[in-house]
Amino acid sequence: MKEVLVYSKYNCPFCDRAKELLKSKGVDYKEINVEDVPQAREEMLKKSNGGKTFPQIFIGEEHVGGCDDLYAIEKEGKLNTKLGIEEAESTTTHYPLVILGAGPAGYTAAIYAARANLNPVIFTGEQKGGQLTTTTDVENFPGFAKGIGGQALMDEMEAQVKRFGTQIIVGTITSANLKQRPFILEQGNKKITTDALIIATGATAKYLGIASEEAYKGKGVSACATCDGFFYKGQDVAVIGGGDSAMEEASYLSLICNKVYLIHRREEFRASKAMQDRVNANPKIEIITSHTLDEVLGDTKEVKQLRLQSTITKEKKEIDVSALFLAVGHTPNTQLFKDVLTTDEAGYLVTQERSTAMNVPGVFACGDVTDPHYRQAITAAGSGCQAAIDVERWLVEQG
Ligand code: NDP
Repeated sequence: MKEVLVYSKYNCPFCDRAKELLKSKGVDYKEINVEDVPQAREEMLKKSNGGKTFPQIFIGEEHVGGCDDLYAIEKEGKLNTKLGIEEAESTTTHYPLVILGAGPAGYTAAIYAARANLNPVIFTGEQKGGQLTTTTDVENFPGFAKGIGGQALMDEMEAQVKRFGTQIIVGTITSANLKQRPFILEQGNKKITTDALIIATGATAKYLGIASEEAYKGKGVSACATCDGFFYKGQDVAVIGGGDSAMEEASYLSLICNKVYLIHRREEFRASKAMQDRVNANPKIEIITSHTLDEVLGDTKEVKQLRLQSTITKEKKEIDVSALFLAVGHTPNTQLFKDVLTTDEAGYLVTQERSTAMNVPGVFACGDVTDPHYRQAITAAGSGCQAAIDVERWLVEQG
C-alpha cells in the first residue's frame, strides 16, 4: 500500500471525513496537524501549490487535493488502485433495511429501526454526521439547555446508534436499482440487496456557479468557515447569504478575522431574529445589502477582491478581501433516484401525504432530502423516527 499523508487542523469536518474514508480502507495514513506543527502550514501550501483548504492529501508523491477530491476518486472506483489496495472479489450482501445518510434523520431512523429489531445498516455517504458537522453551536436542539457543538451532537447520536448495534459503513452508494425486489444498491464493486430503503441523504452546500468562483475554490473561495477561516487570521473576508448559515459563518469568522463583510442580495434577511441581532451588534461585521457577486478577482493563486453589483442602481464596486465564504443554501442529494422517485422542481423527494413513503413501495425518505421548508436538525430527526415507524409497519404488512 502506498504512503498517505494528510495535512489537517483541529475542528475540520472535511479532515475527519477524509480520514474516515481512509480508515475504512485500512490505510495507516500519516497526519500532520498544522496547528501543532507551525512550519507545516508553509510546507503544505508549497507542496499543494497554494491549496488553502483543509485537508490536503498526498498519496505517495501525488497531490490528490482535498476531501471532495478524495471522495470523487472513490466514486470513480479508482481510489483502491491509487492506494495500491488489491481489489477484493465482488460481493453481494443482503440487509433487511438499508439507511442512506448519517445525519440527524438517518441516525434517528436507525435508533428506532434497531429497537424494533429491523437490523438496519447505515451507509454514511460523504458526510458522516451530516451538515451539523460544519456548524458551530446548536442552541435550539431540545435537551441541551446550554447549547451543544454540531459535531458533539452528531457524535452523541452516532454513539446512540452504535449502542443499539447498527453497523455504520463509511462510503457512498454509487448506483441504485429500485425497479426490482429486493432493491439493488452498489458501492464500488460491492453489491447490496435490501428489502426496504430509507433515504436520508440530506442536502449539500450550493455555490453560485460563477466561473471565477470555481477558479478560486480552495484558494480563497470556500463553503465552510470553520474549516478554512483559519487561513485568514487578521485579514478581511466576505460571506454571501442572508440565512442562518450566513449569520453563523459571519459571526464565527469575526472571531478570527479583522473584518467580515456580509453580502446579501436583498434588503431583508431570512435568518432568525436572534441570529440577525447578534450580527447587527458585532462591530467587526459590515453588512452590504442589495448586492450580488459579479466576479472574484485575484492573481490566480489568491483572492484579492470581490466585484459586487448593486441590484438597485446596477453600479459595480470592488471590496478588498482575502477570502469568500458562500452560505447560499443547499441542493438535495437525490441524483441517484430522480429517474424513479418523485421529486419537486428543486429536486427534493416528495413523500406521500402524512407518511414518509415514496412512490416506490418499500422506499421511505426523511430529513432535508425531502424538506425545502423547515430544514432543522430537530425536524430531520423527527422525520427519521417517522420513517422507521413507517418501514416497520410496511414490513409487517408484507409479512
Ligand atoms: P437558506 O436557504 O435559509 O438561506 C440561503 C440564503 O442564500 C438566502 O438568504 C438566499 O437569499 C441566499 N441565496 C440563495 N441563492 C443565492 C444566489 N444565487 N445569490 C445570492 N444569494 C443567494 O439556507 P441556510 O443554509 O442559511 O439555512 C438552511 C436551514 O438551516 C434554515 O432552515 C436555517 O434556519 C437552518 N440553520 C439553522 C442554524 C441554527 O439554528 N443554528 C444554523 C444554520 C442554518 P434570499 O433570502 O434572497 O432567498
